[in-house]
Amino acid sequence: MKNREDPPIKIPKEAREFSAFIYLISEAATGDFPNDHVQTDIRCFKKGCHGLISTQLDFDNNAIKWECSDCQNNGSIGGWLDNIN
Ligand SMILES: [Zn+2]
Repeated sequence: MKNREDPPIKIPKEAREFSAFIYLISEAATGDFPNDHVQTDIRCFKKGCHGLISTQLDFDNNAIKWECSDCQNNGSIGGWLDNIN
């Protein structure tokens, strides 16, 4: 029997880090119920960047938008409402 923590497909380190990053952002943004804008203490994952990530809830698009305070790094995570409840 295979160990559950041992995925059959090897996920690149970057992808694992990115999904952890996405997870942390979702947690921060939706934690103590939705603040419109949250300054997190999550570090930007861009190499050499020491910026911190802030999040914004986009209710119209059912998404979390995030951006770095220092560089142009930004993005959005869709479907966050599905993860609540
Ligand atoms: Zn950055």
